[in-house]
Amino acid sequence: MTSQKSAEMMEMGKLLIVGTPIGNLEDMTYRAVRILQEADFIAAEDTRNTIKLCNHFDIHTPMISYHEHNTRVAGEKIIEYLQSGKDIAIVSDAGMPCISDPGADLVELAIEHGIAVVPIPGPNAAVTALVASGITPQPFLFWGFLARQKKEQKSQLARLQRYEETLLFYEAPHRLKQTLRIMAEQFGDERKIVMARELTKRFEELLRGTLGEAVEWADTHEIRGEFCLVVEGNHNVQEELTEIWWKDLSVKEHVEQVMEQKEMRSKDAIREVAEARGLGKRDVYQAYHVE
Ligand code: SAM
Repeated sequence: MTSQKSAEMMEMGKLLIVGTPIGNLEDMTYRAVRILQEADFIAAEDTRNTIKLCNHFDIHTPMISYHEHNTRVAGEKIIEYLQSGKDIAIVSDAGMPCISDPGADLVELAIEHGIAVVPIPGPNAAVTALVASGITPQPFLFWGFLARQKKEQKSQLARLQRYEETLLFYEAPHRLKQTLRIMAEQFGDERKIVMARELTKRFEELLRGTLGEAVEWADTHEIRGEFCLVVEGNHNVQEELTEIWWKDLSVKEHVEQVMEQKEMRSKDAIREVAEARGLGKRDVYQAYHVE
């Protein structure tokens, strides 16, 4: 184990990860204000946004730009500052840095260089949505943004279909409709969902219902604002697992289905079918090739 308290670390600056509001400025913490005022630099995802926050809270700390397109170059510069004893506070446009936002690379780099990392917690959209959703809060799985490509999104959701944990997603308003459709396709219309919109802001809204209802809502409403999705986990997974989908198939048909569904060669499918049915491989081979 490595401890953050070594003497060498004391000589270096600290990387301060500072949470900022997700809409409502009253959610800024006293500590976040003080830390941002006292830091030597603020590394901001978008300095134009952060300047507004700084103006509001009387923070005059110089800023460095740190966003997803300059993580390497800016990251190296920030590490140099930290090594020379400067404290750097990292903020994103909203919420906790690193959570679907820049920062994780910098934290990793700082740790590699033996620099102390100090979290200053603040609001986070996913957890805020979760606690108000009414859906079992734990265990939960935070996914963030799904892939933009339809095919990739489909396969991510197909994989998540069996998860028993409550699932948390971020989604952009212009992609929400398609995402809900694919989710309903993969998870079924009956799965519960809560769409938390514009959290902490003037038009905050919590839309609770099933995936089928969410698709209908998205088809009939203009979709605006920021959305966080809380989706109930799969509570039928045990039944689905124990349900023997191949019970009405012959051994040969079973092998053929496995080959098709899993894009397997006959040899591998035969092994899998033999295991599933508790048969010898030779018997399954015979049934597949001879019968
Ligand atoms: N780092 C942030 C956090 O800790 O929540 C998340 C940043 S991520 C780039 C932005 C996404 O978070 C949005 O597209 C939306 O899905 C979600 N989000 C952020 N603010 C929100 C809000 N006020 N209400 C609902 N969702 C929000």
